[in-house]
Amino acid sequence: MKALRFVVTAGPTREYLDPVRFLSNPSTGRMGFAVARAARAAGHEVVLIAGPVAQRTPRGVRRVDVESARDMLCAVRQAMSAGKGPVALVMTAAVADWRPAACAARKLKKTQMSGMLRLVRNPDILKSLGRRARGVVRIGFAAETGEPTAEAARKCRAKKLDLVVANDVSQPGSGFGTTTNRVAFVFPDGRVEPLPLMSKDAVARRIVRLARQMAEAAQ
Ligand code: C5P
Repeated sequence: MKALRFVVTAGPTREYLDPVRFLSNPSTGRMGFAVARAARAAGHEVVLIAGPVAQRTPRGVRRVDVESARDMLCAVRQAMSAGKGPVALVMTAAVADWRPAACAARKLKKTQMSGMLRLVRNPDILKSLGRRARGVVRIGFAAETGEPTAEAARKCRAKKLDLVVANDVSQPGSGFGTTTNRVAFVFPDGRVEPLPLMSKDAVARRIVRLARQMAEAAQ
């Protein structure tokens, strides 16, 4: 099979309530950048859509920087429709589920802020893409605190994914900002493959290999 096109998201999103304040999370983008690097090293074409992170762009990877979840959704849509051939969408991004209902044009005074934060749901990027494009392998991540595989299995079904990479971010060596990860692969048929603690680069290589196998099987 020819190389795939990998569309990888990484890092957090920022949801502004005024020009200088936002809601976000501590994602560093490490896992997504590792996936982009591994996919490129395996000879695939890679678009990496990154929230605000301090990571170096891997050589040979096209990077698109975004801030909000809605920007990320637009960039993912664009990247997926911008070429031909089988695509693997790997959503490692820690997308903010909520955003402030409004973003003030000017910095809010602290005296204005008490009780003003009304939130609305962000679009779910994976869900909203649906199964539109044939030949798209869709991989999600589930960062949980406790019982990660049960929650990942639920997400796998709800978002109709081909694979969910589950990790318990409350465990040492796992989750935000670490260079290692202990994950389990959760498949749509309920199968769970727990992996030992390994570097994010090694996890990324496994994901890239699996994505390729799944794309081949779908042909
Ligand atoms: O936030 P949640 O645990 O539901 O994330 C599961 C998967 O869904 C992740 O791969 C994440 O990148 C993706 N997601 C998304 N759009 C959102 C929230 C999460 O695509 N608004």
